[in-house]
Amino acid sequence: MRPFAYQRATDASAAVQALAGAAADNNPLTEGAIQPLAGGTTLIDLMKLNVMRPRVVVDINPLAAAWSTINLEGGNLRLGALARMSDVSANPEIQHNYPVVADALKLAASPQLRNMATLGGNVLQRTRCSYFRDVSYDNCNKRNPGSGCAALEGFNRTHAVLGTSEQCIATYPGDFAQALIALDATVEITGKSGARNVPFAQLHKPPGNSPQIETTLAAGELISGFAIPGRWPRSVYLKARDRQSYEFALASAAVALDVQDGVVRDARVALGGVATVPWRAREAEALIKGQKFDDGLAQRVAEAAFEGAKGNKHNAFKIALGKRVVARALHQAAAMEV
Ligand code: FAD
Ligand code: SF4
Repeated sequence: MRPFAYQRATDASAAVQALAGAAADNNPLTEGAIQPLAGGTTLIDLMKLNVMRPRVVVDINPLAAAWSTINLEGGNLRLGALARMSDVSANPEIQHNYPVVADALKLAASPQLRNMATLGGNVLQRTRCSYFRDVSYDNCNKRNPGSGCAALEGFNRTHAVLGTSEQCIATYPGDFAQALIALDATVEITGKSGARNVPFAQLHKPPGNSPQIETTLAAGELISGFAIPGRWPRSVYLKARDRQSYEFALASAAVALDVQDGVVRDARVALGGVATVPWRAREAEALIKGQKFDDGLAQRVAEAAFEGAKGNKHNAFKIALGKRVVARALHQAAAMEV
């Protein structure tokens, strides 16, 4: 049992104050870290496994009154970071105007987990790479920088085929992030100097030479909310996995289309389960804009989405699977009655 201090923040400034003592890198895998606690379904899990070892845990749940709102005013969507996954996915207006958001949340984890887990915690969940989660393996660059990567020569069936580096091929496991990146969401970040908004696409960092650094959040910063511009009623989240419930994606696609008079005016395609970070397939999207949708176009977009994908010994099947998921999600979105 590793001792740690538990603090309960009463409001945002107390939370930021409590987090201010964190080391500059605030590496959550080291004893020096101070970590916010939201639903705890990732943090406590990894603390029990001795993977995350914070010396202080700051409970931010008392901020929920201010940070768990769901607001659809003005034709845009704003979600508080402490909103629970289950509340957002069950919201009828989100189901109608942003089905890709509702479905990405509903198809994740289990009802019990979704009742506890928050949106902010969800986007910051850690990879499910079994070598990362098992401290009996020394060689994991994400957990022990410079130690190597056990997955490269080990069992890598669930690992990434896009955005990998020679240091790490771990998959980003979440579902909701694909909906956010597809819809050009921004993330609101609260820190010592107040709140700032950055494109969600800039939150996660691909592994490169420093897989231990996963986001652009500075030490002591909190995610306070997300904003999605516009409405996207013609949108779909499709998830392929080993079983139909309570399982992470092997390949998923978040697709949103704006179709007018049979012509696709705007298209968004993001991929999950196949990349090291939430993955937007912008070059693939460009093929659809201004076109009439048909099966040949769906196939070309799917091919383009996986341009440059690189399989390893056990995960090369994800490239073919991912293309089929993208094509099917496009068909489903195009066929929607909105
Ligand atoms: P916490 O565990 O409280 O926090 C997670 C991390 O984020 C911690 O490092 C914490 O310090 C930090 N943090 C939390 N909130 C903030 C904030 N506001 N600002 C800054 N930092 C913060 N997810 C999917 O997407 N799809 C799945 O299919 C899926 N299946 C799962 C199956 C199982 C068995 C389990 C255990 C989890 C599964 N998950 C899945 C992951 C689950 O959705 C996440 O654990 C959950 O969303 C995390 O939210 P939380 O509020 O519990 O975060
Ligand atoms: Fe560690 Fe990444 Fe390699 Fe997994 S893939 S063992 S997380 S370095």
